[in-house]
Amino acid sequence: MNIAGVLMEHEAALRGAIFLAVFLVMAAWEVIAPRRQLALSRGRRWVANLGILIVNTALVRAVFPAAAVGIALFAEDRGVGLLHAFELGVGLKVLLALIVLDLAIYLQHVMFHAVPLLWRLHRVHHADLDIDVTTGTRFHPVEMLLSMGIKAATILVIGAPAIAVLIFEIALNVTSMFNHSNARLPERLDAVLRWLVVTPDMHRVHHSIRPEETNRNFGFNLPWWDRIFETYQGAPRDGHERMTIGIPACRDARRCTTFSGMLVLPFVTLRGDAADKSDRLDRKAGQPR
Ligand SMILES: [Zn+2]
Ligand SMILES: [Zn+2]
Repeated sequence: MNIAGVLMEHEAALRGAIFLAVFLVMAAWEVIAPRRQLALSRGRRWVANLGILIVNTALVRAVFPAAAVGIALFAEDRGVGLLHAFELGVGLKVLLALIVLDLAIYLQHVMFHAVPLLWRLHRVHHADLDIDVTTGTRFHPVEMLLSMGIKAATILVIGAPAIAVLIFEIALNVTSMFNHSNARLPERLDAVLRWLVVTPDMHRVHHSIRPEETNRNFGFNLPWWDRIFETYQGAPRDGHERMTIGIPACRDARRCTTFSGMLVLPFVTLRGDAADKSDRLDRKAGQPR
């Protein structure tokens, strides 16, 4: 069997195994060395957040059976995409593809905050009243499908090698669980790590109830985009222990931390939906402090 065949056959199993291993490590880390005290008990939140993950995984597989790797293999096969037009070493192609894919995810995230209709979907992620490893799996199914569509288009445009796409998908899974976790990292380790990867303390700022902080630190894997595009904020104004997590318009646990509540959240009108721009990207309000 060729490499493409092996990739296609084992992609789901490999991603599933890595997901489970990292999930267990981060969950244990949160118990052994928590960064902050959680506001709610885990039970109901975890059932809801992991429930939506199962729905999303099944839905994305049903709509995109070949997954992102399959789309990359198709592009490779037909020579579709920019990278296939140049004579570059495989290593360089993979590196370039990883960087461009990560930039695309950053830009997509900014867009989901800036466009009111998209924010309705993305606010499901932000409405969690706590932030821990399960928050990293909590996205509305429609946002997941849109993200997958954008990712597919990006892969086709740049001609990302299939192996780069597989690495990227696994990295995004792993870093999402890591940077949403309630794990306490030694301060000095965090300071070094956040030059290479988005750390939990860095991403937590993005889950602050303060709108100007919600519109900071959009990165998922690489922390550089926030520095380059000046959306970086080092720490929440109220401190990590005292900051409030969530969005101002959704403070009711029955609505924001239940499975059914999350599914309908984009379609209900919350306080400030029509006129209030405070939940959205406001570059003036979001100037670095
Ligand atoms: Zn966001
Ligand atoms: Zn997040």
